Formats: sequence, structure tokens, C-alpha cells
Amino acid sequence: MALLELRASGLYCAPGDFYIDPWSPVDRAVITHAHSDHACPGSRAYLTPTTGASLLQFRVGPDPAIQTAGYGEPLTLGEVRVSLHPAGHILGSAQVRLEYRGEVWVVSGDYKLAPDPTCTPFEPLRCHTFVTESTFGLPVFRWPAAASVMDAIHAWWRANQEAGKASLLFAHALGKAQRLLAAIDPSIGPIHVHEAVDRVCQIYRQNRLPLAPTVPTAEWSRALVIAPPSCHGSAWTRSFGNASTALASGWMRIRGTRRRRSLDRGFVLSDHADWPALLRVIDETRAETVWVAHGYREPLARWLQEHGRRAVAVEARFEESAS
Ligand SMILES: [Zn+2]
Ligand SMILES: [Zn+2]
Repeated sequence: MALLELRASGLYCAPGDFYIDPWSPVDRAVITHAHSDHACPGSRAYLTPTTGASLLQFRVGPDPAIQTAGYGEPLTLGEVRVSLHPAGHILGSAQVRLEYRGEVWVVSGDYKLAPDPTCTPFEPLRCHTFVTESTFGLPVFRWPAAASVMDAIHAWWRANQEAGKASLLFAHALGKAQRLLAAIDPSIGPIHVHEAVDRVCQIYRQNRLPLAPTVPTAEWSRALVIAPPSCHGSAWTRSFGNASTALASGWMRIRGTRRRRSLDRGFVLSDHADWPALLRVIDETRAETVWVAHGYREPLARWLQEHGRRAVAVEARFEESAS
């Protein structure tokens, strides 16, 4: 029995009468996390984890009703028992567990296993059907340890200081930038963030997450500047004078990406599961059926089929730019 079906607005649960991460406004939306491809404004009512409420409010505005639940706290929607569990992706991110007449489905949202001081670690769940993301669902995507990536960022920043250059680090304004600020060594020099990053940092700080302090202005040749990837090449970046540019993203694992985007450096740091983590998580769910819902859907679904699992590539419309 299918507990979810793909409708024009997204993944719909008929016995519970709600959508999960719909991409157009609906009556009731269960939201895995506040990235724009998962949290569309305009729905009448939302359900999200307590720790994700302020980020969701930031995304959808003050008007709609936002109901919250603690991780693991069961609720009943229609005839379905619903609970939200940590996904380890960004602050307040969740997997959605659905239980109806003995049948259990889990929708992963976006997730990762790598350590991240800004969110609760991923919780493995058992289910009959698992709906997984697949943003980096190719064997080439394997992440280095996050601590060694931070070491490389620190070394790059110090070398730029010696060369009299500002360090311009591009990172997703929601999640990645704050993960960097929670792990960076602020004793190296002053840190400045773009206003789009700063708005999200304020929400993280309200949630008592310790981020490195940032300054409104500095001697730029000693500073680290964190900005959204869309700022690369903009007039705004020229105000920092001579600068070295870098992007922190899982896409930097692909050779040639750095040069194509005319960046001086690339740091492989992702808020998504890499290929081994996807396979491990899918395995640990013991799911009989896997729906592969975004990213490299077909390659992952095919690999799972070849390894004896029932897997379907589902045409969901979730895409992020610099994950
Ligand atoms: Zn996301
Ligand atoms: Zn996503």
C-alpha cells in the first residue's frame, strides 16, 4: 500500500491529508527543513521540528500557522501517526516518519552523517519504504573528513594574509555558512559576513548556537569574508580589494568545477550525504522499497536495483544550488 503519492504540488499522504515539502501552497505541509526547495511559502498550516521553527518563519513569513514538534514526539494527523527525527542537514532539519496500519514510511529530506556542530546528528530509522534524497548519488562523491577541510581553509586564510589578500569564501547562506562559523578559528583574523548570511546567523544565535563573532568592517587584507555563491563576481566583492576566492561545496569534488567557476580554491564540504553514506543509511533502514527523490535519482535507483532492492526514481522538484 502506498502511503504517499506524487501529486501536482508534491508528495501527498492521503490517509493523513497532508503534503511533505510541497513545492506550491497547500492546506497542510510537513516541512523537513527551511531550504527554499523544501519550504515553499503560502501554505495555510505547517508542521516542523521545534528547533526549525524560527528558520521556517524566516522563509515563509509571520502569517501562516506553524505547529512544532520535538524530535521523536508522536502526533496524529488524520489517521497517520507522524514523528520528526534528526536529519543532521542544517539547524532544525528532520526526517518524517509515517505509520499507518502497521506500515512505516520515512521521508529523509536532505541529510548527512558528517559531524556538524550546528545541528542534531542524523538518527537511523527502520521502515518499510524509505524516500531518500540523492543530491550526490554518484560513486565519485566521497567527502574528506570535515576537520581536515577546516585545516585547509585555515591554511588558505593564513597564506592570503601573508600575500596581503582578503579571503572570500562562498558558501550557502543557510546552513553551510553557519557550519563554517561554528568550526572556524576566529583567532586567525577578523571575520565579515554578507548581510544574507548575517540574517541567518542572527537566527542561529537566537537558538544559542555559538558562532564565531563577525565584524561590520575590518582591514580586508587580513579578513575572511563569507558570502553566498551568487555574490561571486559581483560589484560587492570588489570592495575588498585584492582577494582570493573559494567555494565550500560538495560540487568541488568534481574536477574542473573550480576552474569553470573561476575560483582560486575549492573546499569539499557538503551538508548532504556522500555516496558511501547514502548506501549505508539506505541499508540501515532495512527498507523493502526505496524511492529516490532528488539529485542523481536514476544512477542511485539503478545501483540499488542491481543490488537486489526495489527502487524507484521519483520526479520530485527539489534542487539546491551550492550544496
Ligand atoms: Zn537542504
Ligand atoms: Zn534539498
